[in-house]
Amino acid sequence: MRFYEATRFLFPRHYERRILAICFVAVHLPLVGCIVLLSWRSEWDGSLFGVLLAATLLGTIGAIFAVSELLMPIRRATLMLQTVQRGGRVGPVPVGGEDLVGQLLHGVAQAANETARRIEQLKDAAERDVLTGLRNRRGFLDTVAPILADDSYSTIAMLDLDHFKAVNDDHGHDRGDQLLTDFADYLSASLRRSDIAARWGGEEFIVLFPGTSPRQAREILGRLQSVMRRNAAFTVGGRRVTFSCGLAQVRGYADLAGATRRADQTLYAAKEGGRNLIMTA
Ligand code: GH3
Ligand code: MG
Ligand code: MG
Repeated sequence: MRFYEATRFLFPRHYERRILAICFVAVHLPLVGCIVLLSWRSEWDGSLFGVLLAATLLGTIGAIFAVSELLMPIRRATLMLQTVQRGGRVGPVPVGGEDLVGQLLHGVAQAANETARRIEQLKDAAERDVLTGLRNRRGFLDTVAPILADDSYSTIAMLDLDHFKAVNDDHGHDRGDQLLTDFADYLSASLRRSDIAARWGGEEFIVLFPGTSPRQAREILGRLQSVMRRNAAFTVGGRRVTFSCGLAQVRGYADLAGATRRADQTLYAAKEGGRNLIMTA
């Protein structure tokens, strides 16, 4: 490191130029030696000097080109590391040999992959509900945004467990948590791969049925109702657990907030209507 430190005054911000400057000086040393010798002996030989000068020029051009090409992977690796540090994505990292540059490129590739994996993990953690494993509100909005990019019709469902507070009050918060987890699992199992479910908050869930009419969405949720009727996980203290649901059509992302409001109002109407109901706006 000492020579590196000692030469830092040469192009302090450009390592490549420092190497090229050292190459330049090294290539010119024979020429300088020849001039000094010929002058000292007073034997000036024009042809010898001409050949040496031409060889030096050719050597300089060749060396500068070759060294600058050899430094190229280091330059690219540095740029890629800067991109990774900023949290950006880099394309495939070129594979080097077993030398120093190869090891550097391998290190950059590992750092880039590891960083991308961690960003993905953090993003997933920020968009998942810890209790149920479903998406949370943010995850839902992020996931449906590209799906609702066009103007086709889809259906939004707002679901809310009926009398859930009584489960907490009579059987404890842990039993309430278990019920939420079971409901999330059975809801997910009832949906198609294209449907997007999320925990909207508390004991309220939301589902987007892309390209689906409210009638089809109601059929799918009706199947969930009958599964819940038969399953012991949804009988708490001798009482059957049910949910109420409001359905609303949604057309495009701009309509999402309005559709969510309509579905919520319809859910409220289902509660008013006696609960355990699926109603359409
Ligand atoms: P309704 O039929 O009108 O929906 O009545 P409800 O009892 O289901 O609804 P209410 O809004 O009165 O109560 C919801 C309860 O859900 C209150 C809150 O303490 C509970 N809750 C919210 N989040 C959680 C949670 O993560 N775990 C548990 N165990 N309870 C929760
Ligand atoms: Mg409720
Ligand atoms: Mg509620």
